[in-house]
Amino acid sequence: MSKPMDAIMAQCKRRGFIYQASEIYGGINGFWDYGPLGAQLKKNLRDAWWQDMILRPCWGKPGPNGQPVRCVPVETRIIQHPKAWEASGHVGGFNDPMVDCKETKGRYRYDHVMVYVPAEGDPGDKPVFAYVGDQPSEARQHKKAAKTFGALASVALSSLPRPWQRVIAPDAEKPGSLTEPRQFNLMFKTYLGATAGADDVAYLRPETAQGVFIQFKNVVDTTRVRMPFGIGNTGTSFRNEVTPRNFTFRSREFDQAELEFFCHPDDSVAWYRFWRDFRMDWWKSLGLAGDNLLLREHDQDELSHYSQGTSDVEYRFPFTAPGFGELEGIAHRGNFDLTQHQQASGTKLEYFDPDRGERLPGGGRRGERYLPHCIEPAAGLDRGVLALLCEAYTRDDARPSPELMKLHPRLAPIKASVFPLVNKDGMREVAEQLHGELMAKYWRLGAIEFDEKQTIGKRYARMDEAGCPYCFTIDGQTIADQTVTVRDRDTGHQERIAVAGVVAYLGDKLDV
Ligand code: ATP
Repeated sequence: MSKPMDAIMAQCKRRGFIYQASEIYGGINGFWDYGPLGAQLKKNLRDAWWQDMILRPCWGKPGPNGQPVRCVPVETRIIQHPKAWEASGHVGGFNDPMVDCKETKGRYRYDHVMVYVPAEGDPGDKPVFAYVGDQPSEARQHKKAAKTFGALASVALSSLPRPWQRVIAPDAEKPGSLTEPRQFNLMFKTYLGATAGADDVAYLRPETAQGVFIQFKNVVDTTRVRMPFGIGNTGTSFRNEVTPRNFTFRSREFDQAELEFFCHPDDSVAWYRFWRDFRMDWWKSLGLAGDNLLLREHDQDELSHYSQGTSDVEYRFPFTAPGFGELEGIAHRGNFDLTQHQQASGTKLEYFDPDRGERLPGGGRRGERYLPHCIEPAAGLDRGVLALLCEAYTRDDARPSPELMKLHPRLAPIKASVFPLVNKDGMREVAEQLHGELMAKYWRLGAIEFDEKQTIGKRYARMDEAGCPYCFTIDGQTIADQTVTVRDRDTGHQERIAVAGVVAYLGDKLDV
């Protein structure tokens, strides 16, 4: 059974993970802020990405060429030359065609609308039922369609002949209410300069990837990178989404973590497969393993003309269940982007590869000039945080305070908490000292809390809700035999370990 989204959202608000942006003004559609716990959680996710993609790519695993994977970072601006967005295709083509429902006034992304049809083929003159995978109407439509047809198949709305006279829109009663798809440009516009006019239009980037392509030549010319290598970029992107919804899943402002991995065209399919598999393993390593995570390879007819493969890492969010929603896309982009920017800017972006080309008699190679192909693992950090929160949210009615967040220790915003059982017999002093030692060692990774307020049960409950994986309690026995109780958040199990061993114990659990 899927988890209740409203309970997750309430918990996020109550414990300071995620707030509505401008809430005291009534909120603003499509924008969300992070509270203290959420801000640290998101930073930990970004750090994990940076560590495993840039600093020690793929955990040190060799690439398909048998060599260590090499990546460098850049940090590029939200605003770039407007011509860059024309070249990338975003000014002309970055639009999601939408269909409107004349009956309900609902608006849907054309490529998201699916239709239930009879499994055996032609529905005759019977109506067919449209749905969008992450909307509550899906179950309703499914039921109605099953009643009408028995065995069902799902097809994309785009595969039906138009006009869609027999299609009953997701929340509609009568067939034939869907309009033709229409284009909406999703790029936010702004104006450069205090006295700016229509000629000074600039755009807020809709993805971080283009910054990499634009700086590709500088990185090659000013650093010692050699093919194959990756350039990573993280930061905020903006899309004027027509229907922001599902909490932070579809926001108008969000953060991305993207890698553009460049290689020789001959090697590109092997690298594509390599990155696709690593990205799936990476999300698994952060706790999204199991049935809720899926790697979906796009069908041939879903691919862009330049692509030799695209996969999505998808997560079964409570609002998409039983379906899945995209968390990250891994795309083989060919040399499309470099070609576009080379043409539009008039700057040569070819790479001279001294390790290729014909062998020379004296040893060495002649070298080869080419436009590299690019593999792009493009992750959304906000969607990542949301998936992690949904996965972590657990209700255990056997506990006095039933809601807990089973966040992976690597990502948990609070790494550990230290409690004196009561404030007497020197317990506080021992607890303060232990807290100090843990802080000295682990402060870079997240918070180490100290809590002496209220009953021990309430303190545990507070930490469970915040997703803190380990609590150390100093009690009467500590003074007698220098041991403490360590409590595991997920099992509630408690064991005694030596005070002197706590720092190492936590280090082991945090894998540092
Ligand atoms: P979708 O089909 O859901 O709109 P997309 O295929 O357009 O996503 P990409 O352009 O591949 O998304 O962007 C890469 C990643 O950026 C996505 O996998 C997602 O995690 C994140 N992302 C994209 N749009 C949004 C958004 N509006 N809000 C939050 N995250 C987003």
